[in-house]
Amino acid sequence: MDKITNFKMVNVFSFIFILIISFLNIKVVSASLLYNETSDLIDARYHQTCCKSEITLFSDIKLNLCNHSVNKFYGISSVTCLIRQDHNVFFALHRDGTHKHIITVKNDDNLSSICNSLGLNQSVVLKLSKVKKFGSKLTSMKPNEKLEFWISPSGYLMQLDYIPNRLDRIRFCRHKLDFKARLETISPTIKLRFIQGVVTESLFVDSKKVGLPTKVTSQLANIFGWDVDFVQDVRVGDEFYVLYEEEYIHGSKINDKDIVVATYINKGKQITAIRYTNLNGSTSYYKTDGKSMKKAFIRTPVEFTRISSKFNPSRLHPIFKTIQPHHGVDYAAPLNTPIKASGDGVVIFAGWMNGYGNVVKIQHPKNIVTVYAHANSIHTGIKKGKRVKQGDIIAKVGKTGWATGTHLHYEFQVNGKHCNPETVKLPEATPIKGNELKSFKHFVVKMLHLLENHKTCFADNNLFSDQYHNLNLILN
Ligand SMILES: [Zn+2]
Repeated sequence: MDKITNFKMVNVFSFIFILIISFLNIKVVSASLLYNETSDLIDARYHQTCCKSEITLFSDIKLNLCNHSVNKFYGISSVTCLIRQDHNVFFALHRDGTHKHIITVKNDDNLSSICNSLGLNQSVVLKLSKVKKFGSKLTSMKPNEKLEFWISPSGYLMQLDYIPNRLDRIRFCRHKLDFKARLETISPTIKLRFIQGVVTESLFVDSKKVGLPTKVTSQLANIFGWDVDFVQDVRVGDEFYVLYEEEYIHGSKINDKDIVVATYINKGKQITAIRYTNLNGSTSYYKTDGKSMKKAFIRTPVEFTRISSKFNPSRLHPIFKTIQPHHGVDYAAPLNTPIKASGDGVVIFAGWMNGYGNVVKIQHPKNIVTVYAHANSIHTGIKKGKRVKQGDIIAKVGKTGWATGTHLHYEFQVNGKHCNPETVKLPEATPIKGNELKSFKHFVVKMLHLLENHKTCFADNNLFSDQYHNLNLILN
């Protein structure tokens, strides 16, 4: 427990403190100073209405008087003072000479052992670990996370920064005899990178050769996957041009992000995809004419090993050995492989239905119904009336009902008529239309210009990043 000692010093400082407050013509209700055992001034406060100024008291003590509405934490490396609070401005001053200790958490470390190694006592550990909302983060720290301790020459912990990752910092500051904490999040800077290449073997091999990160290549394949089958359709000589975002913090790249605009030329046919956020706030990729890059349905709602039974209106049933139409496709897949909703819609049935076993039925726009049967289990929350999006997991593959092996029986019905899920013409996803199309086309022109600039000039990437930011400013 900190003790108030050295009453003589306290009185001298109190006097100076009140003098300054008076000089600044601040209405003072009361003022107080607090020292620790070794006479470090650790807390000074007064109650007032409003002030904003900075003054030097002595060479080693500086007062920073903040506007009372500010709730700021100042770094205490060079600044000797500081903070705030509610309607009472609050100061915690300390002398120069505070040292910063940077610790990288190792396997066997915990808050207690680290504090111990820095000469901080267990009462500090206890106070830190009890800080509301954030204290528990310190007691569950993981290897390779970082801690920055600011310790006064007399061994007093002034501030602790807990840095669990490159974007977040939890700052524990002295507050009276305790600590208070808050989360500070850094927003990374976005830069654009351009990469182009020609296919000589496969998209994945050749994109790697020209330095396109795997994550971005996968996104490219996903975006263009509706138009180009990257296993069957890709030809030697296909070209790709990709402009994507990278995240930077303090000049170092931390992440590859999304594609902004990309062109793929498949067998001479050019398709360009542009990322666009529509008026409803949903972001997707569109062709230059406003059509979605996606279809309203994915062709196969499960990753399957083989098709064990095709759509066949006059099939010999494997169990009953009679002619019974097979109204769907059977996709053989391992037990519990996730089954996805093939399009947006509303669940109209989820449960047990004799031959089907566990089954989910989804109603989609344009009077389309899809059916997913023989599931081992139905996903939590999937029940009648539930809205689902394309790609949502609705169930897991099993062999419930009349089934000989684990597979998904999948049906696609249009106006009540069964269609072959493998060949049925899938409707387009909602395009951009109406009044929005005009502003979209304006956006397209700018984005194509941006892509063209990169194709013809590999100059300063930052220049284009600036153009891109300006463009976003104009459009927002
Ligand atoms: Zn079947």
